[in-house]
Order: sequence, then C-alpha cells, then structure tokens
Amino acid sequence: MALNARQFLSRVLITIVLFAPVSGFTDANRKTEKREDQTLYLALDAVPYSLVKELYDKGYMAGYSEPSLVISTFPSTTTSGLTGLLQPIGVKRALGYDAIFYDYGDDRVKGSLLTALKEKYNDYERIFDFYRHSFGQKFLIYAAPGVAVQRDMGHLQTVLRKNPRKKNIFYYIGGTDGTAHVLGRKRHAHILRHILNRLDVIRTRYKKRFGRELNVVLFSDHGFHYRHLKGMRTSLLEKMLKEKGYHLSKNLNGNGTVVVTEWGNISGASFYTHPRDTEEVAHLLNKIPGNDLTFFRSGRSIRVLSPDKGDARIDFDARGKQFRYVPLTGDPLLYREVAEKLGLAADGDWFLATSRHYYPDALHRIYDAFFTLVENPATILCSTRDDYEFGDPVTRFSSKLHGGLKGTHGGIFFTSSEAFVATTIPGVKLPPVLRYSEVFKFFVAP
Ligand SMILES: [Zn+2]
Repeated sequence: MALNARQFLSRVLITIVLFAPVSGFTDANRKTEKREDQTLYLALDAVPYSLVKELYDKGYMAGYSEPSLVISTFPSTTTSGLTGLLQPIGVKRALGYDAIFYDYGDDRVKGSLLTALKEKYNDYERIFDFYRHSFGQKFLIYAAPGVAVQRDMGHLQTVLRKNPRKKNIFYYIGGTDGTAHVLGRKRHAHILRHILNRLDVIRTRYKKRFGRELNVVLFSDHGFHYRHLKGMRTSLLEKMLKEKGYHLSKNLNGNGTVVVTEWGNISGASFYTHPRDTEEVAHLLNKIPGNDLTFFRSGRSIRVLSPDKGDARIDFDARGKQFRYVPLTGDPLLYREVAEKLGLAADGDWFLATSRHYYPDALHRIYDAFFTLVENPATILCSTRDDYEFGDPVTRFSSKLHGGLKGTHGGIFFTSSEAFVATTIPGVKLPPVLRYSEVFKFFVAP
C-alpha cells in the first residue's frame, strides 16, 4: 500500500522513537544475572478497560492475558485509585482523595494539582520506582502529554537496566491522563498503541540482555469518560450557600463555613462541613445543576440524594462487609430491583450483582470513600452527571483556548470507573471483573 507524505513521516518518526534508545540495554557490561523473574508493574493513568479491550481484540496485545475489567475506587481519581489498588500490599491511606485535600489536624486545605506535597507524599507514591512528583514533572503530562509518555518510556529502560535484581519494578505513566483530557479518545488509543509497541521492543531487548523474560502487569487507576463537558458553576454554589447562611472557606473554624476541595475539572468533589451542617448543605448541593448524586454520612448509615431520582440510605455492618440499600423517597442508584433480591447481603454478592451496572459496585465504593481510603474523609461527596465537570474555572477557560476538555473522570458512574489489568505472567488467571482491592492479591507483594 502506498504511503502518503504524512504517513511516511509518521512512520519515520515512530522508527526513530522506537530505535533511538537502543543503547539502553546493549552498552552495559554484560553480566550473567541470576535467572530470577522480574516483573514490571506499569500503571497507565486514566486508561479505560474498553479502550484496552478494543486494542486487545485488534491484536495489539500478543502475549498478554485478555484484559480484566477493574472497578476503580470512588472518587475515580489517581490518588484514590492507586491507594485502593495498593492498600492490600501495605500502602497506607492517602491524605485526601486527590492532590488537593483538606487536613482536619491543621484545619486547612493543602496541596495543589501540580505541585508536589512539600511535607510528605501520599504513601502509594513510595511503592513506585518512578513517579512524576514535582510541578515541572507533572506539568509536562498536560502541556505535552505525548512527549511525557515518550520520555518516560525511554527512562523505563534505564530503570530496568539499573535494577536487574529487583524482583518488582513499579513504574507510573502519567501522560496517558493528559492525552485523554486534552486530546481525546483517538489520540488516547494512539498513545496506548505506542506504549504497547515500546514495551514489545523493551521486552525483546531485555531477553537478549538478561537471558530471561520480563514479566509485565499493565493496569490503570480509573476509567475515562470521553465527551465535551459543561462546567458546574461555583458562583451558583456560593450564591445558594449564602442564601442559607453558609460560605465557602479554606477552614472550618467559623460559623457556617463549608470547605470544598476541587480536584481539577473532574466529575466529583468533596466537601467538609461542621457535623450539624452536613445534612442541610448536602441537600443544597443536591440542587446544583449538573450534580447527579450527593452522599453524606448520617449516624450509622450513608445517605444518597439525587435531584430527580429521590433519596435512599445505605446500611452496613461494623466491618463494612455487609450492605443493604434502602430506597426512601426514591431510587437514586437505580438499585431497587437488586436490593429487593439481596436485602442485607455480603459485599461480594453486591459486587456480582452490580459490577456492570451504570453505578458499578456503588455501596462498597462509597463506604470505602468515607471509611477506609483516606486519612481526611469528607462529610459530603458528590458525583456529577456524565456531561458535567466540577472544578477550577481558570483551567476550564484555558482548556477552551485549545478546543476544550475532551472528557474527564472522577465520578461514580461506569465509564469513569472502568479501569483494567492485563498481564504476560504465565499461569496467572485473572477473573473477567475485579474490584480494585482484589487486583494485587493475584501478584507477589514487592
Ligand atoms: Zn485525569
């Protein structure tokens, strides 16, 4: 087939990219390394199951297991997602749901979207042999996501070469998140194919260099919902709160203060309130156009509010292992039928019944968000409609300059929550659908 000039150029570029770092494995002194297996755990930020499955079906993933669907945490953000995945291998709770969080101890909002936390990293970052921590490192993910991916895949060879005896290498690729937000699905698929190609080359060279296979476990932290989004209006939120005597603040030290932590332009948000204000503020948030579901703790239960589908209650046992969904004025999670069948049931049964639902595995995920994922749990959590995002008007505006956001994640609905895992390790049989906390039970702890 004849190539036009553009196709030719892109092939040349791909060839250069693929073969440029060839010195990676070949210039080092060849030593006979022990033939013990090494596994690369490669975290691909924001790569949804459905995209990976599509590439797998098209034959781009020879040697990998068929990808499994992993239902991510709620909120479906990187900090929450990676913490939830890695808690079973010893990772401690995150400070908050995302890079910006409220700290009860110091009564103030900390962190920023792009700057590294000065005092301490979230514990999951400790596991990674490579992670983009600082402002400059993270900025590249969104300013030039393709460049970030290429650099990081190049650096991966160096990390592997320098650590031949380390049994498990954990490596994070963030440019896939930037690609999805800024460039959309087609380019997301393109960058993913590029990563898979690079991995094939790396594994071939690795085998030559070390005389053994490099095992790979590919996984993502959350899904992605590709569509143009409307922004929820913070000014409207402020106005509605003001009418009832509340105001947004950076701390809770005052009458009627409500703390909001924004996570970038994504489909969720967390709010911190004085306990006496929680229920009233939750009902106000429920009325903001674009908000789909509002969750808040109420005594020994969790309440779920929806502006058009009514309210419900989630009951759970002391260990968070059994759940019941009780429709009150309506059925916000659309679980009524399942709830009538299950009653008070083990969370594994809820998972089986709801893992492919529009709000997958919601009871367990909401429970974890309030009780097990973070050190500073919110009193109220929101999940937006899938055509809205909540966040900073400045980044919203600047994204408009280059065509607007191409989608987001963060919410509890399916597309935001469909992460994946796939592996080249022979003999590892992954179930077709897993909860985030089950993924690393199939692999060896680092
Ligand atoms: Zn993102």
